[in-house]
Amino acid sequence: MLHPPHQSLQVATVPQQRVPLKDRDQDAPWHTEAVCRRDEAGLFFAPSKEPTAARLAREEAAKRVCARCPVMVECREHALVQPEPYGVWGGLTAAERRVVLARRRRRDVELKKAAHTIAAAG
Ligand code: SF4
Repeated sequence: MLHPPHQSLQVATVPQQRVPLKDRDQDAPWHTEAVCRRDEAGLFFAPSKEPTAARLAREEAAKRVCARCPVMVECREHALVQPEPYGVWGGLTAAERRVVLARRRRRDVELKKAAHTIAAAG
């Protein structure tokens, strides 16, 4: 399992805008550019027994960090493919990732049905 970028102790700077894809080092692992590598505020993972209002506020704050992150797309896809069961990754909470995965599964089923129908008709 990939080490979560949020938990590394390396210093990270928060860019004010996304780095264009062409300007990024294509050989570097995506998490080297994670802006959450030093999550001192503990935004990305819930502490135990966190009240709902506090959780919602923390997740929104984490999503604001993700929105400025140059590797948000890669991070989100990593969390979906693993899948990562906890925390905010790529601007999505664990519950939101479950919804995305359920949609993908339904889409895959529909695509397989369509392919089967086309093959049977041909
Ligand atoms: S998208 Fe969010 S969780 Fe992912 S590396 Fe960037 S700041 Fe961290």
